[in-house]
Amino acid sequence: MLSVEKSKIITKHLWKSPVIKTGLAALLVFFGLDFFFPTNTTVPYSTLITARDGSVLHAFLSRDDKWRMYAELDEITPPLRDAILFKEDKYFYYHPGFNPIAMLRAAARNLLTGRRTSGASTITMQTVRLLKPRDRTYTNKLIELFRAVQLEVHYSKNEILQLYLNLLPYGGNIEGLKSASLLYFGKLPVLLSLAELTTLTIIPNRPSSLRLGVHNELVKRERNRWLVRFQQASLFNEQTIQDARNEPLDAYRREAPQRAPHLAYRLRTENPNVPVIHATLNLTIQTTAEQVVERYANRIRAFNIHNSAVLVVDNQTREVVAYVGSADFTNSFDGGQVDGIRAIRSPGSALKPILYGLAFDAGVITPKTKLTDVPTNFGGYEPDNYDRRFNGPVTAEFALANSLNIPAVALLKEMGTSTLVTTLKNARFSAIKQQANQLGLSMILGGCGVTLEEMTRLYAGLANGGRWAMLNFTLPSVPQTSVSKQPDGVSLLSPEAAYLVTHTLTQITRPDLPNNFDNSYHLPRIAWKTGTSYGRRDAWSIGYNQRYTIGVWVGNFSGVGVPELSGANTATPLLFQLFNVLDYNSPTGWFRTPKEASTLSMRVICPETGDIPGEFCPNPTTDYYITGVSRYRICQHRKAVLTNPSATVSYCVQCRPDSSFIRRSYPNLSPELASFYQSRHVPFESIPPHNPACERVFGNEGQTGPHITSLNDGSEYFINPAQPAEMELSCQAPNDVQLVFWYLNDKLYRRAKPSEAIFFKPTPGTLKISCADDKGRNSDIRVLVKNE
Ligand SMILES: [Zn+2]
Ligand SMILES: [Zn+2]
Repeated sequence: MLSVEKSKIITKHLWKSPVIKTGLAALLVFFGLDFFFPTNTTVPYSTLITARDGSVLHAFLSRDDKWRMYAELDEITPPLRDAILFKEDKYFYYHPGFNPIAMLRAAARNLLTGRRTSGASTITMQTVRLLKPRDRTYTNKLIELFRAVQLEVHYSKNEILQLYLNLLPYGGNIEGLKSASLLYFGKLPVLLSLAELTTLTIIPNRPSSLRLGVHNELVKRERNRWLVRFQQASLFNEQTIQDARNEPLDAYRREAPQRAPHLAYRLRTENPNVPVIHATLNLTIQTTAEQVVERYANRIRAFNIHNSAVLVVDNQTREVVAYVGSADFTNSFDGGQVDGIRAIRSPGSALKPILYGLAFDAGVITPKTKLTDVPTNFGGYEPDNYDRRFNGPVTAEFALANSLNIPAVALLKEMGTSTLVTTLKNARFSAIKQQANQLGLSMILGGCGVTLEEMTRLYAGLANGGRWAMLNFTLPSVPQTSVSKQPDGVSLLSPEAAYLVTHTLTQITRPDLPNNFDNSYHLPRIAWKTGTSYGRRDAWSIGYNQRYTIGVWVGNFSGVGVPELSGANTATPLLFQLFNVLDYNSPTGWFRTPKEASTLSMRVICPETGDIPGEFCPNPTTDYYITGVSRYRICQHRKAVLTNPSATVSYCVQCRPDSSFIRRSYPNLSPELASFYQSRHVPFESIPPHNPACERVFGNEGQTGPHITSLNDGSEYFINPAQPAEMELSCQAPNDVQLVFWYLNDKLYRRAKPSEAIFFKPTPGTLKISCADDKGRNSDIRVLVKNE
């Protein structure tokens, strides 16, 4: 054993050894140079978009216009690695970037022959030259030597091999083995046969003379020459090599894949400098969807409808499995490059399901709650129905399934526009977020901007029991394109409300089935909703089953409306076709009543209102309700009235005689419904006029008077002073009202029936309009009349 003293002496001695000194100095110089001249291996690659199965969907030229595709480490299979190392650098895994023995041998040969040959080049040295070609001088050789060692210091052997394979020249603008594999054999490197990969290892030595697809015979001879060498070295098994030698050479220049162009361009922009972007797209579904859309687009072109877009989402994973941005990307005449999935358009009625869902959750309605579909004035806004007809009292589910406008606007008014806006903001509707302050009641009929992506995402939330989440366009290895992705999503609706919406949207007796729909045409089992925007510019149909949510938009990117365009007739047939080809006879089953929060139950209701049956409700039925949420209200569809025996006079508790009165029930109609029936001459039992001897003052009970529907409270009206036009006064009153009294600036103007329209000629100035009924209840409004 050495003593401490002795080892110190040895160390001291070693320091002085010239070999160590030189070595240390060389290291110092190397790291100095390494620090000041860092290695640069950044190369502009082609962007590749791959489908879920790994196949290449779309390839883009690199920034320097090369097909230089990035092969990942696991794409370099053992046979490929063995073949290339056998050919180029047998000691690759053992040398430090250069091979001293081979260099000495080459130097000796050069001295003997007086010629300069280059047999000593390692894969690392070749990589250095591929990264930056330099003139062949001795100085440059030294630089290359330094760069080679540098690569070895900073990268693993496999990474260097990967870089080398990605830079190999294949003639023209094709670089890298992966590019050659795809563009000459139409397959990924992992799928290459031994014959094919051998072919690809020999081209880079003479890329101009061994041109694939041109000199295939020559290439094949050269290939077989190397296969024989492999055989002699027992590199692969005998039979494999025999088969490879017999394999014909079927290489020709193919077009680079250009599938799913809209998604490809989008992902490339959203993931700059990522050479391989792994999309979630399912190649089979994408191909099918493209074909269906193309066929359909050809059919509707005759109607001057030129664009369609389709998005297919897997509900379980929220992965986008098909993305068709337009019917034909290459058709620049019709704006085929526009991405219809991201274009901001008017949704028509397609947002109604989420509003009904919110109303279910607020307890305001259950599926059989009666809503009134009658002409209504919402503070100056008088929406019409799509078919310009009104249905009177309808159930909430009928109103949604039939996409009635008045009940939807009334419901939005009751819920508050801000409730819907907040929900849609949570669901990342970007245009709605920006428009939030300007949005009014018309938004539920399409008065707002949405994209097909936002809509499909929203409906995928309905399919997931009300839980909303961002869509996935790429597999998790690439950072998500969304701002911040919530793994669990956001709960927009309770599972119960989502189920009720789904249940309603599944009804088959609907007017938004396509007109030409017949029994020979298979109706897929889906929940779906259509939308047609104002001016017939956009047709929507979005549907879902357990497995997929499919969003369809049809229209013109130019914004031109078409009379034939409608969600039911233009978009729904395409939606049905897609479901029928993609998920015919789906094995996944249908939505069940939610189990996790089983507060969805059935209760007995009166069909006249959807409320709990009261004293005068003879035909009870059942309806869904959400326990603890849905409103509990006793039905008041009829009310008890005290009358004389002949039912010509009604009494109140104050004026009823001590005897000879009868308690009867009368319909308890809302003022809107009463005036709707009156205007349509629908007979209904009126409550007899109140006892004229009664001294009670009704107005004191907090009841409001007739609802003035014209003019509009707080509005300004302009008149032509020369010829002032007549203006209309109208109101809606409950059905116990026989007479109303109109006052202009507190002066009686006219007495009339509640349903009667009254006209007057206004004069400029502030005008107070009052309407009182025969029970003494009064309503006032104020308007301003101005000269034009
Ligand atoms: Zn009832
Ligand atoms: Zn009375």
